[in-house]
Amino acid sequence: MTVRAGREFLAIPGPTTMPDEVLRAMHRPAIDIYSDQMVDLSDSLLRDLSKLFATKGRVYIYIANGHGAWEAVLSNALSRGDKVLVLESGSFAIGWGNAARAMGAEVEVLKGDWCRAVRLHEVEARLRADKNHEIKAILVAQVDTASSVVNDIEAIGKAIKAADHPALYMVDTVASLGCMPFEMDKWGIDVAMSGSQKGLMTPPGLAFVAVNERAQAVNKTANMRTPYWSWAEREGIEHYRRYAGTAPVHLLFALRQAIDMLFSEGLENVIRRHQLLAEAVRRAVAVWSEGQVLGFNISEASERSNTVTAVVVGNGHDPMRLQHYCNEKCGVVLGIGIGDLQGKAFRIAHMGHTNAPMILGTLGVVEVGLNALQIPHGAGGTEAAIKYLGGSVHP
Ligand SMILES: *Cc1c(COP(=O)(O)O)cnc(C)c1O
Repeated sequence: MTVRAGREFLAIPGPTTMPDEVLRAMHRPAIDIYSDQMVDLSDSLLRDLSKLFATKGRVYIYIANGHGAWEAVLSNALSRGDKVLVLESGSFAIGWGNAARAMGAEVEVLKGDWCRAVRLHEVEARLRADKNHEIKAILVAQVDTASSVVNDIEAIGKAIKAADHPALYMVDTVASLGCMPFEMDKWGIDVAMSGSQKGLMTPPGLAFVAVNERAQAVNKTANMRTPYWSWAEREGIEHYRRYAGTAPVHLLFALRQAIDMLFSEGLENVIRRHQLLAEAVRRAVAVWSEGQVLGFNISEASERSNTVTAVVVGNGHDPMRLQHYCNEKCGVVLGIGIGDLQGKAFRIAHMGHTNAPMILGTLGVVEVGLNALQIPHGAGGTEAAIKYLGGSVHP
């Protein structure tokens, strides 16, 4: 017996649930990629992506996923042998660093761990020790989707400034852009990258890179450049060159619709909605934790992200059994633990096109699963989430 007919709830941290309006926006014939309509569409998206990144710098759109955007950044801003400092807080900055190493950079990891955010004094101390300014770039993720930590990107920018270090500050916003505040120029970020399939509610396949003047100056002499990723190649007058080939027409229509929806809700509301729904999830997890088996992966409450929550499962209980139960019996797809958390955690995503019924439904189903599988947990987690929203979303 199952109770999974009806709409499946995708609670994985990407790709996320797409609005029906976004899906419909793609259901149309292709257009002439040389037409004014195409040029206008590109121009409007580049303008609006700059608003999302909060930068006066240039934005590039690639046909790629997040890994592609990583490579786009590295190939344009690094030269072989350059030293890169990776700020560890889970798996994603590490992955970006691994790409840099494979491309010929020298990579140093500022050791962190999977339970906490990057520590500011450690960043500042490491940069102060680099008297000859050998470090050319600093890589960090705003939200590490594997550990579910949120890093204080503004404060890290200040630490870099306090150390008076000239390295390019590069930030991965794949799991945060369009969900939480991000201020590229104000926070002193030189390069930011993101993808379409998480907070931006669009199919996987578009990657975004925003670049300030400092990064563009470095680009002039960077020797890892290749034609497809190259910023310079994408700056020709012919519109065609912006995509280094055929434009991803349908994905652009989808993105147009998704950004229209974000702006019509209002970015402030979008950010507030993410805060509220994330806190509802945390209230539930806090109650479940009283059973001594479940717990937050991120120990410090202020370092838990508003887009995804990793829940560790201890005492010999298997999170995959819970994941399978929720999916196969109830139609809720939870994220699994990856990297260090593989087999040790499940993840609840609360990013992008999410609302109260989706989150409360997901929490309710987790509780159904915990009961069915007899995994000890504090009673009343979903109830705590309901109470929190009732007390916070005012009439
Ligand atoms: C998902 C994710 C990526 C990788 O994106 P892909 O599209 O899967 O290549 C990179 N960084 C972060 C923080 C992510 O959450």
